[in-house]
Amino acid sequence: DFSVQLPDRGDDELGELSRSITILAQDLKRLKEQRNEFLSSISHELRTPLTYIKGYADVARRKSIEEADREHYLQIIYEESERLSAMMKDLFDLAKLDRHAFIIQRTNIHLSSYLATVYEKMMPAFQEKEIRLDMNCDETLYVMVDPVRFEQILFNLLDNAIKYSDPHTKTSVIAQQEKGEVFIAIRDEGAGIPQEDLPFVFDRFYRVDKSRSRHLGGTGLGLSIVKELVEAHGGRIEVKSERNKGTAFVIWLKEEKE
Ligand code: ADP
Repeated sequence: DFSVQLPDRGDDELGELSRSITILAQDLKRLKEQRNEFLSSISHELRTPLTYIKGYADVARRKSIEEADREHYLQIIYEESERLSAMMKDLFDLAKLDRHAFIIQRTNIHLSSYLATVYEKMMPAFQEKEIRLDMNCDETLYVMVDPVRFEQILFNLLDNAIKYSDPHTKTSVIAQQEKGEVFIAIRDEGAGIPQEDLPFVFDRFYRVDKSRSRHLGGTGLGLSIVKELVEAHGGRIEVKSERNKGTAFVIWLKEEKE
C-alpha cells in the first residue's frame, strides 16, 4: 500500500514544483521584456525633445533669419527643455516608487478642509482656461494620507481635466463615503478616452493622442505615477470615460475615524 502511494505523492509534488518553476521562468522573462520595452521607450521619449532642441538651436543661431522667427524657435527650445525636465522628474519619481524608496508619511486628515486648500491652489489654472471647478465633500470624512503625495495625485488628475477639456465646461470633485470606504471622484466634461484605450491609460508613456498630448506638454507618465501613489496609500483608482462626453477618475481609500 505504502509503496504505491509514495510515487504518486512524489509525482504530484514534482509536477507542482515543475509548474512553479515554469511560471517563475515565464515571470522572469516577462519582467525582462518589460524592462527592455521601458528602456527603449525612455530613450525614444527623451530623444524626441532633444531632436527638436538641437534642430531649432541650429536654425536659431543662423545670422540670416528674421528676429520673429528666432523668437519662435527659442520658444520651442524653451518648451522642449521644460518637457525634458518634467520627464526627468517623473522618471525619478517612478524609479523611487519602484524601489519603494518613496516615503509615504500618512496622517489623519479632515478631507473637506484639505480639498478646500487644493481648490484654492488649482483655482487660477481653471479660471485661466474658463473651466468651472466644483467641489463637494462630505464634512464628516477623514482619510489617512501623505498630504504632499496626495496633493500630487489630485494635481495630476485636475491638471489633466484642464488639459483635456474645452473652455466653459465643468470639472467636479465629489467626496463621499460608501460602505466603510471613501471615494473621491474627479469628473470632467472633456474629450473623453476611447473605450479601447481605457485599459492602458495608467501605463507608462501611454497617450491616447500623441501629438495632442505633446502639444499640451504631456509626458505620458502622470497617470502611472498617480496609480502607484494611490496604491502606495493602500487605495485603488478606477477610470470611466465616454468619448466627447467626459472622464471620471475615482480614488477609493479606507475611511478613518476623526
Ligand atoms: P499626459 O502627460 O500625456 O497627460 P498622463 O499619464 O497624465 O499623460 O495621461 C495619459 C493619457 O491619458 C493622456 O495622454 C490622455 O490621452 C489621456 N487622459 C488622461 N486624463 C484624461 C482626461 N481627463 N480626459 C481625457 N483624456 C485623458
